[in-house]
Amino acid sequence: MSGHILALSGGVGGAKLAAGLADVLAPGRLTVAVNTGDDFEHLGLTICPDIDSVLYAMAGLNDRQRGWGMADETWHMMERLRALDEEDWFNLGDRDLATHIARTWRLRAGQPLSDVTARMARALGIEQAVVPMSDDAVRTQVLTPDGWSDFQRWFVGEQCGPAVSDIRFAGTPGAAMSAGLSAALDRKDIAAIVICPSNPFLSVDPLLAVDGVRDALLARRVPCIAVSPLIGGKALKGPLSKLLAERGLSGGNLDIAAHYGPLVDHLVIDRGDAEDAPRLREGGHAVTLAETLMKSAGDQARLARDVLAAAAL
Ligand code: GDP
Repeated sequence: MSGHILALSGGVGGAKLAAGLADVLAPGRLTVAVNTGDDFEHLGLTICPDIDSVLYAMAGLNDRQRGWGMADETWHMMERLRALDEEDWFNLGDRDLATHIARTWRLRAGQPLSDVTARMARALGIEQAVVPMSDDAVRTQVLTPDGWSDFQRWFVGEQCGPAVSDIRFAGTPGAAMSAGLSAALDRKDIAAIVICPSNPFLSVDPLLAVDGVRDALLARRVPCIAVSPLIGGKALKGPLSKLLAERGLSGGNLDIAAHYGPLVDHLVIDRGDAEDAPRLREGGHAVTLAETLMKSAGDQARLARDVLAAAAL
């Protein structure tokens, strides 16, 4: 096995596969480029939920039961915020808070998000590259019956309730690829691109909206493999199933394949969804059936190996 792997990831779903890839690849063979469209300012802090999910998962610090944030978390700060009658719609754990403080002061001191992220990854003992998709601000917004809403207001504040008729990524076009993402795409030894099992509309589309990313993927000379975020035709969590239904889509792997179109050569889908395979193959995609539910580090590594095998690595 040789060559470099570029993984595109959103938050929790993508982070688990990114952690699996990091486990099975030698240090330095992986770049994880992370969605920053979910980033926002809250209580004076810059919060990058997907970068944090990836860092925590790759460092083994993530909470698997809750599904987000850090393990062994406590919530004293939130209690005190409530006592002060401050905004409490976005939960920030005590341990997690250190990440946001460290990031925010460094950004305010003028350091680019790429540098801040690399420094954190190093401090957490992560031996693969974790890079934001861009150092420029990109902000995902959703169109609901009340108008355009910032992503986190809708996602957390309104718990994805209002129907979404459109999604935009403020700051694109115009946001440049981070140096790390651009360098990974340009590497002579790049061997495969992996689209992690993240929400295609909310986590992967912002990455594709960064200047040059979609074109670079279309011009690729290496396989691009996507792992489906659907199991049994449904998202495990989050608004993906709702978004598919609101678009009048039945919510199967064919919709995921159609969404990515020519960007993807090979789909890794859950063994339980084998019935989708013939039609995906008719549509021109190679298909691998795998156990795609990742509950443990072992599951993550096993799926990562299946993905690398799909890339013939
Ligand atoms: P978010 O930004 O934290 O919402 O995370 P992502 O966009 O990365 O991931 C959300 C998607 O991940 C959901 O659609 C889930 O169905 C999917 N997902 C979460 N865990 C798993 C898993 O273990 N296996 C697969 N195949 N998909 C998963």
